[in-house]
Amino acid sequence: MLAWLDLRNDLVFNKIPPAKYRYYLDSALAFGEQAAARLNGQDIRQLCAQHQIAIEIKKDDGLFFTVQFRAQFEYSEKLSRRKITLYQPSLESLLAGCASVGLVMSLDTIIDIHLAHEFFHFLEYQQRPVSASLEKVCNVAIGPFRRYSTVGATSEIAAHRFCQRFHQLDYYPSYYDFLWLAHSGKQTQWENERCFAEAWQEMLAFGLTPQADACL
Ligand SMILES: [Zn+2]
Repeated sequence: MLAWLDLRNDLVFNKIPPAKYRYYLDSALAFGEQAAARLNGQDIRQLCAQHQIAIEIKKDDGLFFTVQFRAQFEYSEKLSRRKITLYQPSLESLLAGCASVGLVMSLDTIIDIHLAHEFFHFLEYQQRPVSASLEKVCNVAIGPFRRYSTVGATSEIAAHRFCQRFHQLDYYPSYYDFLWLAHSGKQTQWENERCFAEAWQEMLAFGLTPQADACL
């Protein structure tokens, strides 16, 4: 269901025919699961080292204008740059959000979770982005003129699922963001629950089957 929320937040979500929702969700989740199965049992830091991906942990808060980053991936084959930057204060604030509901994790664990997410984006750069592998949607239609766009959220869904399976997490990782939202006062627990309940109803209305636990 959290994957559904990711899809629903896509910029072109309202251009996706409802009959295609399942296709985008299932395909994106499958991309993440297959990549995790291929790398089963490996260590994320070793994988980064093997692929010459530098890891930098910054002590600043990763705030760019109003957007706060926890992790970023820079990739340039031309400049031979492969680097994941993590912002420690943001990660610590995420940890505090998780701990507030009894989900205690170490900083190393939360770092590994973010490394796996960004490593999946690296795999996409190397092969093909998930969003580019799936059907495009018609974004603009004026007379005979058509413009098509990829559904960018499918890359995020795949990266989240990859991370979840790779680290055998109990939850689809955006769940931790919801805990953080509640803990940091950006959204109340009640608003989180209302958001989940609405998403659940939408999935049922579109004939999609939410998993028994909303946060899987
Ligand atoms: Zn991402």
